[in-house]
Amino acid sequence: MLMKQLETTSMVLLHHHLKALRLPTITAECEKLARQAAADNADHLTYLLQLCELELLERERKAAERRLKAAHFPTLKSLESFDFSARPSVNRLLIGELARCEYIDRRENVLFVGNPGTGKTHLAISLAMAACSRGYRVRFFRLTELATLLMEARDERGLLGLRARLAKLDLLVLDELGYVPASKIGAELLFDVISSAYERTSLIVTTNLPFESWTEVFGSERLTGATLDRLTHRCQIIETKGESYRLRDAKARISKPATDERGGSAAGREPCQRDTEGGKTSS
Ligand code: ADP
Ligand code: MG
Repeated sequence: MLMKQLETTSMVLLHHHLKALRLPTITAECEKLARQAAADNADHLTYLLQLCELELLERERKAAERRLKAAHFPTLKSLESFDFSARPSVNRLLIGELARCEYIDRRENVLFVGNPGTGKTHLAISLAMAACSRGYRVRFFRLTELATLLMEARDERGLLGLRARLAKLDLLVLDELGYVPASKIGAELLFDVISSAYERTSLIVTTNLPFESWTEVFGSERLTGATLDRLTHRCQIIETKGESYRLRDAKARISKPATDERGGSAAGREPCQRDTEGGKTSS
């Protein structure tokens, strides 16, 4: 009876100490694992090691989840769901190497250039997600979104704060450079982000604009030249040549319904279903 009381008291104390030490997984698992260890005749150090491993694994899982959330991806895309055979201009080996993130350690950039629908955003998100899972701090912006944020921050004198947050990143994704020409001030603020990132934070930029047309975005030749200079110095430029994946997909479905037994339902499929199917082609 006294023994039982002692056990309960020490369990209460133990839970209190573990909570103070912020070890939630050990708190949750220690009793179950203790019974297991007793049954297995495991020694104390083995038991302690198991508990520490569980705590670390859970911490890493939570941190990865937080990094993914903090990156603000519009959708999640994986490299596994990218159909490289549909985009022969994209070198699968190079993308695989980039997914290992060594370019981030070298503070290099990646630029995806190509027409709409050719998989630029898909590849950018996949690489950025790979970086998240390796522990890098990542943030994704559509360029117009960042331009707006910068303008707002400027009005609220919050630019310093925003700059400080951007400076903490390992990888910054700027998606869709060139869809909407930025205003003169917006262009200067964007240029400022790109110059501050230079040799400190890696950038992944996607654009449908050939370099000749970048002046339309940045307004002046001087700013365009300076931006391109910083961006493309130590940079992998990847061209996603060819026609839109969605278009190709739709065409394939239209041209094949008679030969495809499930043609009726295939033709009626929503193009966006691709995303959840892992991007398999019907050809
Ligand atoms: P972009 O950014 O070049 O305009 P996206 O990356 O947004 O193009 O691609 C459009 C859609 O087509 C997305 O849903 C994307 O997942 C899909 N997609 C594009 N290329 C491929 C591919 N090679 N394999 C699988 N899905 C692709
Ligand atoms: Mg895109």
